Amino acid sequence: MAKVSNWQINRPMDYPYEESRPKRQFAAVFDINKCIACQTCTMACKHTWTSGRGQEYMFWNNVETKPYGFYPLAWDVKILSLLGVNKWAGQQYAGKTVFEAAEPGQTVKGYLPEDLDWAHPNLGEDEPAGTVEKGDYFTLPHKIWAFYLPRLCNHCTYPACLAACPRKAIYKRTEDGIVLVDQSRCRGYRECMRACPYKKVLYNAVTRVGEKCIGCYPLVEQGFQPQCVTTCIGKIRLNGWISPPDQADPEKPIDFLVHIKKIALPLYPQTGLEPNIYYVPPIHVPLNYLKQMFGPNVEHTVHLYKNLKDDEQLLGCFMLFGATNRWIEKFKVADGYAFGYDAKGAEIVRVPLKEPIYIRPFEDPERQAVRHNTP
Ligand code: SF4
Ligand code: SF4
Repeated sequence: MAKVSNWQINRPMDYPYEESRPKRQFAAVFDINKCIACQTCTMACKHTWTSGRGQEYMFWNNVETKPYGFYPLAWDVKILSLLGVNKWAGQQYAGKTVFEAAEPGQTVKGYLPEDLDWAHPNLGEDEPAGTVEKGDYFTLPHKIWAFYLPRLCNHCTYPACLAACPRKAIYKRTEDGIVLVDQSRCRGYRECMRACPYKKVLYNAVTRVGEKCIGCYPLVEQGFQPQCVTTCIGKIRLNGWISPPDQADPEKPIDFLVHIKKIALPLYPQTGLEPNIYYVPPIHVPLNYLKQMFGPNVEHTVHLYKNLKDDEQLLGCFMLFGATNRWIEKFKVADGYAFGYDAKGAEIVRVPLKEPIYIRPFEDPERQAVRHNTP
């Protein structure tokens, strides 16, 4: 095993291959506070990529209700218990990653879900934590809670699927860091499915090969964001490139959110994969649960999010979520607007920080109308 650097756990770690970061890394930020579990992203992905034979139960993008929703069944509970005690010593992860916890002869510690585990993607949907007693609805903060977690392949910096494949059929593209399965090399051994802690490689029983999210690379190559991002009803998603922390560029929206402001966090960073989908954690959920899921910095993110109105730059960056189908390379906030720019520096989107309010008159002589619903 080589020693590689992992900024999310703040220490070097074991990985079967030498560190080799792509020229640019595909990444996204999801603001969980705005997700309504409408599953539009799920269906947009399904219609685009997985409507064929053998893909009936396959969702490259899914949205599960936490704490009781899972796809496949109990995936994160199982991974966390396989890892043992997930301890953080301040900012540094003191437990073992899936690579470090591997048994002799294995590359990655993992498990293979049963076929039935994939069969009920909506089990647990809208089920909150705790029991509701009389009067609970009127207390703040609520004793019961739930939130929606949209998930797809994290196009990890250290993919466990790639590390475990005995056929070397999985590769990470140098131009954008998107992780793909070469289906002509794959023999369907499912070692990638066993290894991926997020369970984001799926098996097609008809073609007998592994399949996974391809980051909508045909769109990305043309300067557009993926389908799940542009169709999102809640406008919770923003794609972009992420740099390593020491090269963070405050003009790149994802660098700004993840490295500069530190308001977006990786999902289960303790796995050691350096996943590249980042989440703005929900602000109404017990911090201990969030710490287990997103690492030690959740208190800071919750505080920032609650005070978003006081930070114009941050607010402006959030206004760009769902504002365009184009890939935003850089952004700027000025004169009450958030601007997004493409790779050539041309403006592709402009959003006001405050929507202008226009009060329509009671009597409208132009249309010969009287508006009874206008005060
Ligand atoms: S999330 Fe899983 S499938 Fe995606 S790159 Fe990481 S290890 Fe591979
Ligand atoms: S489309 Fe957006 S709001 Fe709807 S479930 Fe997906 S991520 Fe959530």
